[in-house]
Amino acid sequence: MGFSARLAAVFCAIFLVGCGQLPTEQQGAGQRPGPAGVYTDTTLAEYLEVRFGQVKTCSGLTEGHFQELSVVMMAPVFTCPWYADGCDGEFVPPNIIKLGHPYSWDHEVIHYLLFVNTGSADSGHSSELFTRFCPS
Ligand SMILES: [Zn+2]
Repeated sequence: MGFSARLAAVFCAIFLVGCGQLPTEQQGAGQRPGPAGVYTDTTLAEYLEVRFGQVKTCSGLTEGHFQELSVVMMAPVFTCPWYADGCDGEFVPPNIIKLGHPYSWDHEVIHYLLFVNTGSADSGHSSELFTRFCPS
């Protein structure tokens, strides 16, 4: 083994020792357990608020505010009155959005904005806003 090969082996050994260690159960000893339940971090709410603003601006609709919404995270597909196979998002007037995953957010925000601006959530999806892509 030449010098450069030995040098590379030493660097690899150092790298593996420094970065390759896995946490052990003992490292968690003394930690207080987290509370039982399902939680999201604040970045999801931040994303939803920012994206709400982008969709609202893109729509040209002026009434309706993110802070007025009640957003409920649901299973990816949940029972709803609209589709026999379930929904991945649902707007329930006057201000509830049930969300199966964040990809449904824009669509449900449009239902909400239409409701507060026109009095109809357009459950038949006749508005062109449902086919418009709003850039981030
Ligand atoms: Zn819809």
